[in-house]
Amino acid sequence: MEIEFERIHLQCDLLSPLKGFQEISVPTEVRIDPLTKRRSRIITWGLPSKGKFDFSQMIEESKGCFFCPDALHLKTPQFLKETVLEGRIVMGKAVGFPNLNPVGTHGNVVVLCQEHFLNLNQFTPQIFEEGFSVSVEIIRRTMALDPNIRYWQISQNFLPPGGSTILHPHLQVIGDPIPTNEMEWLVSAGSSYYERNKSVYWNDLIEREREIGERYITSIGKVHWFVSFAPIGFNEVCATVEGHGTINTLGEEEISSLARGIVSVLKYYYDKDLNSFNFSIYSISNAPSYQLLLRIISRTPIQPYYLNDWTSFEVLQSELTSNIFPEDLCREIRPYFS
Ligand SMILES: [Zn+2]
Repeated sequence: MEIEFERIHLQCDLLSPLKGFQEISVPTEVRIDPLTKRRSRIITWGLPSKGKFDFSQMIEESKGCFFCPDALHLKTPQFLKETVLEGRIVMGKAVGFPNLNPVGTHGNVVVLCQEHFLNLNQFTPQIFEEGFSVSVEIIRRTMALDPNIRYWQISQNFLPPGGSTILHPHLQVIGDPIPTNEMEWLVSAGSSYYERNKSVYWNDLIEREREIGERYITSIGKVHWFVSFAPIGFNEVCATVEGHGTINTLGEEEISSLARGIVSVLKYYYDKDLNSFNFSIYSISNAPSYQLLLRIISRTPIQPYYLNDWTSFEVLQSELTSNIFPEDLCREIRPYFS
């Protein structure tokens, strides 16, 4: 196997007003992702927490939204009859339907629960199990009619810093005949790796990370949880599911493992006074050297004088940053998985 963990050490020298204008050296670490070769910078001087944000006014002003139980079955779109005869897909408290503002061939929403708002420590495994089950059913029914829709993302944008206009917890389930940039990079680099090594990159990565022990969190069934060597977002945690490239081939046990892991990560974020996050599951059919990947990152929390975590580095230089050393994050988050 040819997995390399490359680091580049950068250093900035200056006369510091904090040290009586003595010369100091400030290091920055640049890491290169072993698969995509994308660079990330580890920057650890983030602003201190301002405590937990009081959401009561936001909840009061926005409750009774389209996703709340009274309005959902009256005001949200329905699937075409040939896709879902009953209009919407309901499993437990989760309800799936087409997005009124789609951004692709099949843009769908899955409302996760009847509660208009949940703190990060209030999400339960059952909420995500039901949400993922509805997502799988949407994918199955769509692909039964059009097998060319190979590329699916199951994502959550939570709160305005995560890009959501609606507080009510929901997933985006988006399918297309073409990949997103990220999917293209993962499949293409995974395929090249397979050609060279005759093995699946993610299996080799897990084997190496388990040996090293600094970034591997745990396995829950066939789902392996780890922290990326070169994260592309703040507090990034990943999961890969052994032997699967798509979410629609997973059994109940794997769906439950993904749900439990996400809830563990959200509890850690809550304890760190974070409140906004994004995750994506990259689900890709007919790509034998690809293995299902989930990435979850925190966003800078909603709070007075909100600070965006995407600066010119990310939006204009395509150089992504992390706020914590991955090895430190792994050590801190492990107990949340036990
Ligand atoms: Zn609502």
